[in-house]
Parts: sequence; C-alpha cells; structure tokens
Amino acid sequence: MAEEVKNYDVIIIGAGPAGMTAATYASRAELKTVMVDQGIYGGQMNNTAEVENYPGYNNIMGPDLAEKMYASSTQFGAEYAFGAVSGIEVLDNQDKVVHTDMGDLRAPAVILATGSEHTHLGVPGEEDYQGKGVSYCAVCDAAFFKGESVTVVGGGDSAVEEGLYLANIVKDVTIFVRGDQLKAQPILQARAKKQENIRFVYNTSVTAINGNGEEVQSVDLKNNETGETSTFETAGVFIYIGLKPNTAAFKDMGITDPAGWIKTNERLETVVPGLFAAGDVLVKDLRQITTAIGDGGLAGQEAYNYVSALDDAK
Ligand code: FAD
Ligand code: NAP
Repeated sequence: MAEEVKNYDVIIIGAGPAGMTAATYASRAELKTVMVDQGIYGGQMNNTAEVENYPGYNNIMGPDLAEKMYASSTQFGAEYAFGAVSGIEVLDNQDKVVHTDMGDLRAPAVILATGSEHTHLGVPGEEDYQGKGVSYCAVCDAAFFKGESVTVVGGGDSAVEEGLYLANIVKDVTIFVRGDQLKAQPILQARAKKQENIRFVYNTSVTAINGNGEEVQSVDLKNNETGETSTFETAGVFIYIGLKPNTAAFKDMGITDPAGWIKTNERLETVVPGLFAAGDVLVKDLRQITTAIGDGGLAGQEAYNYVSALDDAK
C-alpha cells in the first residue's frame, strides 16, 4: 500500500537559524508548518563554539543558541521532523511534493533553508582519518586533544575563531594559511595574534594527512612560494576552508547559480512560484546567523502571503 502523504501549508527544509525563524513566522501566522532536517536542529550553530555577534547576547555557545531558537520556533505549533530531503516535485496546480527518507510531504509553499556544509581539502588521508584526528568541528572534538598539538587549515573567520577556541583547550595550535594573508575579520585576527599558543604559518598547503591507521600523527606540507616540502607532527587536523551549498537535491530545478547557490527575487521567491529560500543557501555576500534569521523571517512571511492569496482565489 502506498504511504500516506502528509499535508501542510508550508514545508521548511532545514532547521538551522533560517529555517527555525521561518517556522516561527509561518506558524505564528497560523500556517500548518513543518521543518524537516536530516540532522539535529540548529544547523551550523551546532559546530560553532562561541557566538558574540548575535544581538541580545554578549557571548553564547552555538548549541545553546540553537536550543533557544528551537524553543521559539515550535512555540506556535510548528512541527519538527527528522529526515533527509532527496527532491521536490512541482504538481500542475503548483503544490509541491517533498520527497524524504521518511515519506512524502505536500504543501503549496516550500522554503529551502538547507545552508551549506564544510568543504573538504581533498588530500590523501583526509577521509581515512575522519573521526581519528581529522575534524571539521572544534566545539565537538577539541576535548579529545587536551594537552596535544593540533593543526588548523584555512585563513577565514572559521579557521581563526575556532583556532582561538582550540587554543583554550589544547597545548598549541598551528594554523596553516595557503596564501600570504588571512581573510578573517580584523578583530579575530588581532585576538589570535595575541594568543601565545597560536602560530600562523603562511604560504603553506597541507598536501597529505598521515597516521598509524588508528590516529593522525603528522601532515605533509608544501611551501607555495619555494615549492619546498616537509612533514609536521600533529595529533589533530581541523579543516576550515570554506563552505559549499547543500543544494544537490534541487540541482535540476533551475533555481541555482553555476556554483549551486540559490537565486531568488527580493521577496526570497525562486523562479518556481511558492518556492522560497532563506539563509546561507542563497547567493549572498554575508553568511551569518543574523542574516540567516532575517531571511527566515521574510521567507516565512512571504510563504504566508502566498498561501493566503491562494486561499482568497478559491
Ligand atoms: P545552516 O545553519 O547550515 O542549517 C541548514 C540545515 O539544513 C542543517 O541543519 C542541515 O542539516 C539541513 N539540511 C541540509 N540539507 C538537507 C536536506 N537535503 N534534507 C534535510 N535537511 C537538510 N555566524 C555568526 O553570525 N556568528 C558566528 O560566530 C559564526 N560562527 C561560525 C563558525 C563556524 C565554524 C561556521 C561554519 C559558521 C559560523 N557562522 C557564524 C555562520 C552561521 O553559522 C551560518 O551563517 C548560519 O548557521 C546559516 O544558517 P542557515 O539556517 O542558513 O543554514
Ligand atoms: P571562507 O570565508 O570562505 O574562508 C575560507 C578560507 O579557507 C580562506 O582563507 C581560503 O583561502 C581558505 N581555503 C580555501 N580553500 C583552501 C584550500 N584548498 N586549502 C587551504 N586553504 C583554503 O570560509 P569560512 O572561514 O569557513 O567562513 C564561512 C562563512 O561563515 C563566512 O561567511 C564567514 O564570515 C562565516 N563565519 C562567521 C563567523 C563570525 O562572524 N564570527 C565565524 C565563522 C564563520 P584564500 O583566502 O586564499 O581563498
């Protein structure tokens, strides 16, 4: 027997800050709302140690902020469902059927808030040593390296901010930057440069991650100016080299740019009527919690306007 399709007014794919805020707005406007996420609600906030640029808090741990946003987002009846979305079908009447690994969901309005995920370095050893010394999440894994020397790869906000977090827990942190300068915000750079157990090594790429099969022991390096190669002993490698959009499930819908980020109009609607997007997954310049929640509020409100207009037309 075919599985029953669950019906909603709006389906939000992704329960990071954008999706959770969209859920608050949509459910408070009395839309029957569900957020579907393939992981725990909170999105990238779960991988963030300290957040100090979110209004109302001088400093809050990312997972704590996620809990607080989840409580807000469900207070007006929005549901949370655990499931991975594999695609969206748009029916002739413009209703959308969202295919998930826990069954199909149907609604006139859908908000894509699937964010982005960390880019991999793509060097030998990276996949083999994931969970054995290679990490993309300092807040999750720093405690495993107490008293040890670790390595960070990258030069943006994530590398420097998470390097600072690591430096409070591990013995020392060496940050390998492929170019001759950092891209991180000046305030983070200044703080990291003052930290005695953080060292920056510029013009240097990690070309391989080595170990004994059980744990990481060293990385191979290449100096990008001289071509010189070397090996550097380290117990952990934290990789923060940027993000790529989580849009594989929507790649054939004609809603993304060549790099996979979603394009919308100023009301956050894609070229598909009733299909909105919010947060990091959008083509945008500033990917932050504050910008994600701003998008989420607007997308939730626009979904309400769309569903109301359909109801008025009936
Ligand atoms: P995300 O938080 O990425 O959430 C997307 C959600 O969608 C995820 O939960 C994911 O599981 C889900 N999803 C994806 N694909 C699917 C699918 N197919 N099916 C179902 N679910 C799916 N910003 C700040 O403002 N301050 C900071 O201090 C800060 N620190 C950061 C530190 C790090 C290490 C990183 C990586 C980012 C940091 N940011 C910070 C940026 C901030 O976390 C993001 O801008 C924000 O989380 C984006 O929110 P979002 O809801 O758009 O996406
Ligand atoms: P990012 O800003 O895209 O920076 C990526 C960094 O990794 C750059 O320094 C880049 O070097 C380097 N890099 C890219 N590919 C590499 C490779 N193959 N090998 C070595 N280095 C490589 O990414 P991010 O730092 O993860 O930040 C992602 C988003 O989250 C940003 O929008 C950021 O502002 C936001 N964020 C905000 C905060 C905060 O507000 N406190 C904290 C963390 C993250 P080049 O410079 O040479 O290209």
